[in-house]
Amino acid sequence: KREDVPVQVHGIDPKLVDQRALDVVHTLKQAGFEAYIVGGAVRDLLLGLRPKDFDVATSATPEQVKGLFRRAFIIGRRFRIVHVIYGRGREHEMIEVSTFRAYLDSAAAEQVTGNERTSKGQLAGMTHAVDASGRVLRDNVWGPIEHDAARRDFSINAMYYDPESQTVVDFHHGIRDAKKKTLRMIGDAATRYREDPVRIIRAVRFAAKLNALGFQFDPKTREPLVASRNLLADVPQSRLFDEMLKLLQTGHALASIEQLKAHGLANGIYPLLDVVVQRADDPFVKLALQDTDRRVGEGKPVAPSFLLACVLWADVRKGWSQRLQPRPNQRPTPPVAALQDAVDDAFDARIGDVSGRGKLGADMREIWMMQPRFDKRVGSSPFSLVDQARFRAGFDFLRLRAQVGEVEEELAHWWETFQSVSDEMRDDMIDAQR
Ligand code: ATP
Ligand code: MG
Repeated sequence: KREDVPVQVHGIDPKLVDQRALDVVHTLKQAGFEAYIVGGAVRDLLLGLRPKDFDVATSATPEQVKGLFRRAFIIGRRFRIVHVIYGRGREHEMIEVSTFRAYLDSAAAEQVTGNERTSKGQLAGMTHAVDASGRVLRDNVWGPIEHDAARRDFSINAMYYDPESQTVVDFHHGIRDAKKKTLRMIGDAATRYREDPVRIIRAVRFAAKLNALGFQFDPKTREPLVASRNLLADVPQSRLFDEMLKLLQTGHALASIEQLKAHGLANGIYPLLDVVVQRADDPFVKLALQDTDRRVGEGKPVAPSFLLACVLWADVRKGWSQRLQPRPNQRPTPPVAALQDAVDDAFDARIGDVSGRGKLGADMREIWMMQPRFDKRVGSSPFSLVDQARFRAGFDFLRLRAQVGEVEEELAHWWETFQSVSDEMRDDMIDAQR
C-alpha cells in the first residue's frame, strides 16, 4: 500500500522546509537510518503553508538519535522522544525526533504486556518496559514505518517527506485526501475515537484550521463524533484541559467554536469548554477570542490565563457585585476583599484543581485583582502598578472592558499613555487628576 510520490505530483516547495529539519534528516540518513519529516509539517507543506514546527520520524532508537547530535535530550517516559536543539536562548529552535512506533490494538498491547512480564526483552525492538498498565510499554514499542503511519490519526497527518529525494511516502491516501480537501480518519473512525477519545477534539481542531481552505469531514469520520463524545469522560482532566487550550490557541478559536456547534459538540466535551462555547457571542468574550486569533495569526504569544480570565469575568463580576450589596445588620465588605472572594468562587466553580495549573491560576487572579487598582490614579499607586510584572495583561484586560463599555474609554486611554511616558510626565498626569 506504500506509495512513493515524486515532487511533480505533490509539488512541495523545498524552500518552506526548515534548515534544521533538513540537518536532522541528513544526519540520521548518513548514519544509515531511515528518517523523514512527518505529521503536521508534511500536511502544511503540501497545502503550501509554512509549518510552525517540524517533527522527524526515524528508524533510529532514542539512544541512537541522542548519540548523533551534540545537543539532544531524551524526553518523556510514556512516550520517549528526542529533542534536538539548535541555537541558544530565546532564539533556540527544537526539532522533535520520534522513533517509528508499532501499531498495537488493545489486544496486541495486552499481549505485549504479558510477554514482557514472563520473558523480558523477548520482543525485538522493545525498550525500557516500565509499568504494568501496558501504557508505557505500548507506546515505546518500535515498529516499521507502515505501523507508525497506521497509528496516526488523519490521513493527511500520516505522510512522510524525505527532503533530500523530495519524495512523499504515503500509506493512507493522504495526497488524495489533501487534493479532495477531505479530513479522513485512518481506519474505522468509531474505533479510533474509542482508542483515544482526544481524537474527537483533534478532529474539531483540524476541521477549524482547514475549513478556511475548503476542507470537509469525510462522512464516516464525522458521523461517529457525537456518539463518541461520552468517551471523553474517561480521559484525564489535565489532558482535556490541554486539548481545550490547543483548540483555543492555535489561531482558529472562533472557527473551532463554529465547528463544535456545527457538529453537535457544543457541550459535553469538557465543562470549561462548554462555558466558552456558551459565551462565545458575549461581546467581551468574543473580543477576547478575536484578539487571540489575531495575535496568533501575527505570530505573537498568547497566554491561556488571559483568555480564561476573560471567559470567567462574568462570574467574577456577578459574585463581586453580590458581595458588595448592603446587607442588614452587617458591615459592608471592603471591595478588594469582596473581589478576592468572588475570584476564589469563580475559580473553584469553573477551573477546579486541574493539577499543575498553579501558574495559570495565579496569572488569572492577578489580572482580575488588578482591575480595581486602575481606578486609583493618585499618589504613588499608578507607579507601582505599571511596574508590576503582569501589568501588560491587566491593562489589555482593562482595554477590552473599555471596548465593551464596561469602563470609560478615557480610563484605558489614560493608562495607555501613562505607561509610555517619562516619570516627569507621569507625575503631571497624576497631578491633573486632582
Ligand atoms: P499542529 O500543526 O496543530 O501541531 P500536528 O498534526 O502537528 O498539528 P501534533 O499534535 O503536533 O499535531 O501531532 C503530530 C502528529 O502526531 C500528528 O500529525 C499525528 O500524525 C500524530 N498524532 C498526534 N496525536 C495523535 C493522536 N491522539 N492519535 C493519533 N495520532 C496522533
Ligand atoms: Mg505539530
